[in-house]
Amino acid sequence: MLDIIQIPVLTDNYIYLLHDAVSGETAVVDPALAQPVLDVLNQHGWQLTYILNTHHHGDHVGGNLELKRHTGCQIIGANADKHRIPALDRAVVEGDVINLGTHSAQVMETAGHTSGHIVYYFAEDNALFCGDTLFVMGCGRLFEGSAEQLWQSLQKLKALPADTRVYCAHEYSQANARFALSVEPDNVALQQKMTVIQQQRANNLPTVPSTIAEELATNPFFREDSPALRANLNCTTDAPVEVFTKLRRLKDSF
Ligand code: ZN
Ligand code: FE
Repeated sequence: MLDIIQIPVLTDNYIYLLHDAVSGETAVVDPALAQPVLDVLNQHGWQLTYILNTHHHGDHVGGNLELKRHTGCQIIGANADKHRIPALDRAVVEGDVINLGTHSAQVMETAGHTSGHIVYYFAEDNALFCGDTLFVMGCGRLFEGSAEQLWQSLQKLKALPADTRVYCAHEYSQANARFALSVEPDNVALQQKMTVIQQQRANNLPTVPSTIAEELATNPFFREDSPALRANLNCTTDAPVEVFTKLRRLKDSF
């Protein structure tokens, strides 16, 4: 079993600490800050082996240098971002495999939010660490890529097994659900999900992770084929990528 600890930091970021009890190896995904990670490592008596960065934004790499200084860990990130990920040690590309004890993650390139964005997929553990590419009921904003690029990237994630857990880097679910309901108000799965996440947030609980199955049922950016959604957007005959582009644009000004 891969131990996964979720650390909420800043306004709405999640850092994930991954630990393999057999080998003692530990990785952290997107450390926005160092101190909260060091605190959890100390609590458990774990030593940090790797930092896994999904992209170069400050709220994902902010803790890199300090964590490396304290722990001597190795920093892994996209080859495309090697000029801008602080203290990068190992540059990876699509299909590369990262071992954490007996667990392994596959690197998938998911450009769109940024041009170098990657995600880490632990197939045997049913866990996807997707940074700012896919969110619960949403997807990343287009800072560097085109809508077409992000759409292609999301097709890869959409094709993962339905029981894959989606560990995204932000708690954006409530705002995302409001937008999702605005474009697909009669989606019953979405209505039910809204009720659940409102209760979770009222109790200060995370709504992350979800699963690929839940995203297929509720995430508008996974639902360009929905006849109801298409009818609401007046684009019943458009290609899926065009529907996606329209959705992304609408969400930007929602
Ligand atoms: Zn970002
Ligand atoms: Fe972010």
